Amino acid sequence: MLSVDAYRGRILEGVRELAPLELPLSSSHGCVLAADVTAPWPLPSFDNSSMDGYAVLSADVAAATPEDPIELAVIDDVPAGYRSTEVVRPGTAVRIMTGAPMPDGADAVVPVERTDGGTETVRIRQGADAGAFIRRAAEDVVAGETVLTKGTLIGARQMAILAAVGCGHVLVHPRPRIAVISTGSELVEPGQPLRHGLITDSNSYLLVAACREAGADAYRVGPIVDDNRAFLAAVEDQLHRCDLILTSGGVSMGAYDTVKEVLSTVGSVDFLKVAMNPGMPQGHGFVGEDEVPIITLPGNPVSSYVSFENFVRPAIRRMRGLVDLMRPETTAVCTSPLTSPAEKRQFARATFLPSGAVSPAGTGQGSHVLGGLASADALIVIPEGVTSVAAGETVTVIDLRGDR
Ligand code: AMP
Ligand code: MG
Repeated sequence: MLSVDAYRGRILEGVRELAPLELPLSSSHGCVLAADVTAPWPLPSFDNSSMDGYAVLSADVAAATPEDPIELAVIDDVPAGYRSTEVVRPGTAVRIMTGAPMPDGADAVVPVERTDGGTETVRIRQGADAGAFIRRAAEDVVAGETVLTKGTLIGARQMAILAAVGCGHVLVHPRPRIAVISTGSELVEPGQPLRHGLITDSNSYLLVAACREAGADAYRVGPIVDDNRAFLAAVEDQLHRCDLILTSGGVSMGAYDTVKEVLSTVGSVDFLKVAMNPGMPQGHGFVGEDEVPIITLPGNPVSSYVSFENFVRPAIRRMRGLVDLMRPETTAVCTSPLTSPAEKRQFARATFLPSGAVSPAGTGQGSHVLGGLASADALIVIPEGVTSVAAGETVTVIDLRGDR
């Protein structure tokens, strides 16, 4: 049996960041920049008002008081998006809105709150120092400056600066496209009636959602019956569409383990046992002329999920061009006892309590237990060599709550 870390190492060796692609800005959210981005112009790109008010000569209004306001002639009115052709000279003012370019001559803005708001003439009750309420060109970003570096994940805040410096397109590592193929003759679509002995295909929904949450574009294929030809056709059909194929089911020791049977003869896929619980039977390798990576996950839903977290999610993050591949780990007090096989690393589903402690899933740790999985937001890691955890003991926990 291979250790979890050794197996993850093998999977990660087989994938790399996807080749850079120029995407429209609107499609780049969640992608990683493949090149530095520099500003072609400064930010702000012109001196502009930070308030609604009046562009004035500060010397004109220096003596203004509420008792003795100073009156100026309003010679123009500039909303944002327009530019005044007037020059502010002594005794005059231009009414100006936030973001509008400063008119020539003026050296300060008096906020409207300090005035009577007049449009022909304005009475100013309090002055403004030279430079007041002006956002200077380039005070944020100078032209030619690098605003984001290669490797940056494009989230909401990064979108803003990319748009501000006029990036209509950005060079990014695209989201991996992932085909999720579920296998099993017992599987029916959710919403369809169940005959005795059949179950609904939950894994493909679980895995597609997990892939998307990990930043990939994933889609369902199947479910495919346990038939070698049908499965091979399904795989071949996906080879040209995706960057990674995930399968669920059919990799254990039984008969009708289609995935294992087919992929042992086609492509180069290794099937092996990993020292973990749940999720011992695993497979990974490459298929087709283009050597598309494939990861074959076990069929039990909890095994599938725990395997996804351990092996697929880090692979997706690497393909996205990210460097932090693993979820954050923490330590927490475990509220009830757990047991674990000595030779394996156990991943127990658990829930964080408001106190910060973790409570193992009440319905047990069976690899078919979906209720416990649904309420879990943590995986307790019980290392190899440890066979029990007592209530109150501190354990290592993988935190499933964030998206890192
Ligand atoms: P297998 O790995 O194909 O032997 O499947 C192991 C267990 O997982 C069996 O109980 C299957 O019925 C179940 N299983 C396999 N695939 C799925 C799936 N897509 N959704 C839910 N359960 C599954
Ligand atoms: Mg099966």
